[in-house]
Amino acid sequence: MKAAGQDVIGFGAGEPDFTTPSLICDAAGAALAGGMTHYVPTPGTPEAREAVAAKLRDENGIDCTADHVCINNGAKFTVFLALQALLNPGDEVVLPTPAWVSYKPMIELAGGVMVEVATDASSSFKMTPQQLDDAITPRTKVLLLNSPSNPCGTMYAPDEVHELVAVLERHPHVTVVSDEIYERLVYGDEPNLSMGSLPSMRDRVVTINGLSKSFAMTGWRIGYACAPADDGALIKAMNKLQSQMTSSITSFTMPAVAAALTDGRSEVERMRNIFAGRATLIHDLVSKWEGVVCPRPTGAFYIFPDISFCFGRISPGGVRIESAMEFAEALLDETGVAVVPGNDFLGPGSRHVRMSFATSEELIIEGCRRMQEWLGKLSTCETAVSG
Ligand code: PLP
Repeated sequence: MKAAGQDVIGFGAGEPDFTTPSLICDAAGAALAGGMTHYVPTPGTPEAREAVAAKLRDENGIDCTADHVCINNGAKFTVFLALQALLNPGDEVVLPTPAWVSYKPMIELAGGVMVEVATDASSSFKMTPQQLDDAITPRTKVLLLNSPSNPCGTMYAPDEVHELVAVLERHPHVTVVSDEIYERLVYGDEPNLSMGSLPSMRDRVVTINGLSKSFAMTGWRIGYACAPADDGALIKAMNKLQSQMTSSITSFTMPAVAAALTDGRSEVERMRNIFAGRATLIHDLVSKWEGVVCPRPTGAFYIFPDISFCFGRISPGGVRIESAMEFAEALLDETGVAVVPGNDFLGPGSRHVRMSFATSEELIIEGCRRMQEWLGKLSTCETAVSG
């Protein structure tokens, strides 16, 4: 629609609207100009791996070394490698939902079986310790956790992480794959607590992160994993797989990894501050919709309202809305506002839409204004429309 010249406001983006900070671009540029254009070790250069390990030690409190770290083609590939290396056919993976769309296919591609733990807005989409306990069986291999969450925009507070750990301590056969790609983009009173920093979990957590979201580097394709157990045995297995698939990531981005993680903290904080303002703004605007249930975003850059109050109603253009998919299609056609229907995020996702606030305040205000106006014109029966 945009290409056809239509005025579309997009709340769909899963990536920051900022450009990569120049200190990071400069480091890659200098490496390229300096001839760093040859193969480098598959898991990353020693310097880049050490920068990742130092970040995880200093910022996250994870007891690790460079040998416990590998760098991959985006956190998406990191999650894929970890699941391939961990799962045997039939192994169960506990997945709280709504969840990022790639997890289920990745579990299945590795031969695993997804065991869904559905959460809803009433708990800010957080799995309770009891739900976790109930989902674990003798066949459970992995708990796949994503906090802060895409699509929910909420995160487990440190106390809640401790409560989940208390359950996991009773089930030592379960490994946690902790996708912390949004960990620096948090807006509540409490910081992200990395489960892998807790001594009882050090050898049972694979911490996954990357530069895409915090540093506005989605196109660079840089993700990483840290797994200290058995002196990095899982990392070696992931490395074996990666070496037959992609080799290392692009060589001359390695110095940029070190530059970002060592010198880029103030840049992350600058962007986080802007996201924090937008989180408040969009939550205030969405909360005005009569009937909406919408937890305040505390992390990532998404808000995930329950729009089921519209179900059974007719849009101004005459569409009967029965799911998030119909809501999103009618909204786009009739107002030019694009949101992501929650159906593919599993759980109660079909009652929700995901709105990304990785866009300007001006567009957030105008997009929400159009939505509110459209919602105000929904009617309760077809005769109201034709009439
Ligand atoms: N994990 C989650 C929860 C995500 O939302 C995304 C991207 O949307 C990724 C991982 C992938 O990040 P990357 O761009 O580094 O592959």
